[in-house]
Formats: sequence, C-alpha cells, structure tokens
Amino acid sequence: MMKLADRIESLHESQTIAMARISRELREQGHDIISLSLGEPDFVTPAYIREAAKKAIDDGYTHYPPISGYMDLRQAICDKLKRENNLTYTPDQIVVSTGAKQCIANAVLCTINPGDEVIVPSPYWVSYSQIIQLAGGVPVFIPTDIASDFKITEKQLSNAITSKTRMFIFSSPCNPTGTVYTRDELKVLASVFEKHENIFILSDEIYEHINFIGKHESIAQFDSIRSRVIIVNGVSKSYAMTGWRIGYLAAEKFLAQACDKMQGQFTSAASSIAQRATIAAISRDDAENKIMFKAFERRRDLVLKLLKEIPGLKVNQPQGAFYVFPDVSAFFGKQYNGTVIHTPEDLCMFLLRDARVSLVTGEAFGDNQCIRISYAAADEDLVKAIGRISESLAKLN
Ligand code: PMP
Ligand code: GLU
Repeated sequence: MMKLADRIESLHESQTIAMARISRELREQGHDIISLSLGEPDFVTPAYIREAAKKAIDDGYTHYPPISGYMDLRQAICDKLKRENNLTYTPDQIVVSTGAKQCIANAVLCTINPGDEVIVPSPYWVSYSQIIQLAGGVPVFIPTDIASDFKITEKQLSNAITSKTRMFIFSSPCNPTGTVYTRDELKVLASVFEKHENIFILSDEIYEHINFIGKHESIAQFDSIRSRVIIVNGVSKSYAMTGWRIGYLAAEKFLAQACDKMQGQFTSAASSIAQRATIAAISRDDAENKIMFKAFERRRDLVLKLLKEIPGLKVNQPQGAFYVFPDVSAFFGKQYNGTVIHTPEDLCMFLLRDARVSLVTGEAFGDNQCIRISYAAADEDLVKAIGRISESLAKLN
C-alpha cells in the first residue's frame, strides 16, 4: 500500500463537514434526518447578486483575474471597511481568496514557522487548529466555559503568552458559541498585545453582520496594535454565498504581498465570476439581507426558548452568528437501551440515531461538555428537530 505524506496522515477531516456528509448520506438512504450540523444559511443568494454574476459571464469576465482580486473589488472592500468599520485600508492591503478559510490558511502559512505558538481561545472554529498544525505551528488553547460566556480574561491571555507566541486567532461573533466581545473587552485584549510587539492578531469577522447586540466591533480599531491585526471576512454568511467561495483579508502591505505570493502558487486567484458578484453584494445594503438577519434573530429566540424547556441542558445566550452551544454534561453517565453516554460525541451519535437530528460534537471545537446546534435552518425544521431532541433526551436515565 502506497503511503501518504505525514502532514495528511495527521490532518483531521473537518467535523462540521463530516457531520453534514453523514446526514446527507442517511437522507439519501431514505432516513428522515434534520441537519442542524452545518453552519450555512438556508437562504438562496439574493437576486441582485445572482444577476451580477450572470452579467459578469456575459461581459466576458472569464479570464484569470489578478492574484489578489480585481482592483475594483479590492476598492469596494476598502470602501466597506471605511463605511461600516471606520477603518482605512488601501487596495494593496487586501487579498481576495477562495473563501475566508483560504484567507486564514494564507495568513497562517505566511507567518508561522515550525514550533511557533498560536494562541486560540477554546472553543474555537474547527479549522484553526488544523491549519496551524499544517504550518508546523503549535496551537495553545485558552479554555473558556459557559459560566464565563466563553470569553477569555486579560489574565488568561497574559499567562498564555510565551517568547514563542507568534499569533492569536479568534472569531467574534464566535463560531461555535455565538459569543460577541464588546469594544471594552477587545480594548483589554489589545492592551495585552501592546506589550508584545511580535504577535499577529488574526481577527475572524465572518459573522460580522449576524450580531444581535448592535454594532460590530473590530479589534483593528485600536491604533496601537492595528499594524499587526489581520482582518478576515467574507460573503459566505452575510450574503448567503457559501458556494461562491469568496473571502478577503485586510492587513499590512508586506503581509498582503506574502499572501498574494502564496496564493499565486496554490490557486492563482478566486473565481472571476464570484468576484464580480461580490462587488454587487458588498456595495449595496439590500432589503433581502435585512430579511435574512431578522430571520436569524427570530430563530435564535425560538431555539433558545425551546431548548430552555429541556431538563438537563445548560443553554448559553448567543449574541451573534447562528449557533447555540449548550452544555450537555448532565447527560454523561446516563443510558438508553444499553448505549451509555460518556461524551458530547456519544450524545451527538445517539441524537443522530434516535432523534434523527444531526448536530456537531463540542470536541470538534476543542470542548468536552457541549454540542453545537446550527439554527441556520427553517423555523418549522427547528421546532421539529428540538421536539425530537427533547423526546430522545427524556429516554436517557
Ligand atoms: N471562519 C469561521 C468562524 C467560519 O465559521 C467559517 C465557516 N465557513 C469560515 C471562517 C470560513 O468561511 P468561508 O466559507 O468563507 O470559507
Ligand atoms: N463554517 C461552517 C461550520 O462551521 C461551515 C463548515 C466549514 O467550513 O467547516 O459549520
């Protein structure tokens, strides 16, 4: 048997995507599965964006675009950053990539040497740890829990920093917890980084527009650390454009140039047609986007109300994104029909079989108490799914 490279042997499959695959397969076999595993808006991309893509094809945008993205798209991103975030960037500081995921991979591969430490508040989004390890870096997790609203403290951050720390990666609004850091909390974190001039701060802001507590706050607003902040954002979540595969990064010019060089060897550039559609997406405040946002807020409230009625679940109060991350540890040690639940993963598999609802175990995000429920699904599916979850959990004793 031919052997693969060590780096792929040690890489884990993305568990969010794996759960989505399993539920699709079970559905194809005729099982009635409700999938709340994948973080993907159930909406179709708004019409004005789809029209822009059709026009791009007819206008002949069929050749290789510049590696970092079309100049007018990068200008539109700078305009967006000024308009919505009051941050000044120039197009040579922007790199457009094949999804925010590739932006993160570019940034990490361009900055992390083998042995470098990258601090990641935990629970964290699945791919951070794997991308860090692909670069030879060492993820250093700062644990948080439901009692602290999944937020790290100044002291925890200071204690995690060593002479080897090279980067800090976090998302706010956070996947998987929905936690949103306030401006004051970000300021406290920024004050720690002020004292450590060799640390990059990768701020994953992909859920920027799905924020139920008001204005989005970026850690890039603090001038003292701004030159070391790498903003990652994209259109997958805010504009229901997951399949278009467009993300972007904003950073100091030398880092943007490095990402351009890296991407030039990997993908050449993101799709020309999707880039043209993205200009339309981010340049207009469309009514359809507001409808999607309102739906997420309504579903969050609906899901929280229903989950809080289930005995044994400890439910957090997400302030953004479209996930709830309840603590399920009260069910550990319980059993049904000979199946004993020891871990969140055991519980997810039990709920997949018994309730026919697919969720993602907290372990995928570095947590061993919780499970992730994505509420980016139709209201009636959410009601049905939580009803079934409730019935199945009641069987455990
Ligand atoms: N960051 C976070 C926190 C995410 O949840 C996702 C999920 N897709 C991504 C980045 C990657 O987004 P994209 O679809 O743009 O690659
Ligand atoms: N980010 C989404 C999630 O966490 C999509 C899956 C992925 O990109 O890993 O479910």
